[in-house]
Amino acid sequence: MKFAPIHGVAVSVLALTMCGATALAQSEGAGAPEIIHHKTNPSGAGAPTAGSTGTQTPVITYHGGPVLGTPTVYVIWYGNWNQTNSSDTPSGQHIVRDFLYGINNSPYYQINASYGTPTGYVNVGAEMTDSYSQGSRLSDAKVQLVVSNAISSGKLPKDTNGLYFVLTSSDVAESSGFCNKYCGWHTSATLVGSNIKYSFVGNANRCLSGCAAQTTGPNGNAGVDGMVSVIAHELEETNTDPNPRSGWLDSNGAENGDKCAWTFGQNQTLGSNGAYYNMTLPGLSTPSRNYLVQRNLAQNSLCYINYVTRAQ
Ligand SMILES: [Zn+2]
Repeated sequence: MKFAPIHGVAVSVLALTMCGATALAQSEGAGAPEIIHHKTNPSGAGAPTAGSTGTQTPVITYHGGPVLGTPTVYVIWYGNWNQTNSSDTPSGQHIVRDFLYGINNSPYYQINASYGTPTGYVNVGAEMTDSYSQGSRLSDAKVQLVVSNAISSGKLPKDTNGLYFVLTSSDVAESSGFCNKYCGWHTSATLVGSNIKYSFVGNANRCLSGCAAQTTGPNGNAGVDGMVSVIAHELEETNTDPNPRSGWLDSNGAENGDKCAWTFGQNQTLGSNGAYYNMTLPGLSTPSRNYLVQRNLAQNSLCYINYVTRAQ
């Protein structure tokens, strides 16, 4: 996605990348991070788009900044994940946990290893619950506060190699544009004295037409099944561009995940419940699960879904 121009901000040092937004992020005031957003689904609900197998120009290049080898993922379950809406539920949480477990060294995540320093491995760290400490309408600054408080309180360790996901239940808004400008974003900031990478991803059940590729999910939870693809997007971007605009990006400011956003490749299977999926990964709560996850860009500027078979 596009990077937000930082205008009129006196002391901004952070960079947020919005994933999937066609609109630019607005400044959030002094000290606000520069968010890189993950744009919303351009085609809305329907058959998932396969996407181009050609070079995604302009090509992605390295800008000299830090790149993570094997990130550790922390999860903050924000809001109420014990609802009766069939989406923000304990079983929905299991889908996310299983995905974060299964993505480690998967043929999919090996795409990121093409950049050299990233290993294609992902560690899963601690998780915690935050029951609306900042209310049900978050700003970018409040998301940052949720992360900062999680670390300063000792509920989560302070880890400069970490990526802290704030995953909100579907009754939580993000006022800078969740559901209309983006489905998630990632950034970094100096929190509790250290460079901390974090990401917002909302439950797509709030806006399936904008933040999910299909209205029936492979695991029967369209919202969380939609979130999974956005989580993958933000994870791979944080891996290769942890301090936005300093690692791997193209001349338009697009990171690896942005360049393949909302494309799912040619090897999709229609499951018995009517949902398409493009990968099966081992799980923790169940032996394996199917997912529909967007493709990711390799260093050669081609989008893949499986870097072992080179399937696109
Ligand atoms: Zn992105």
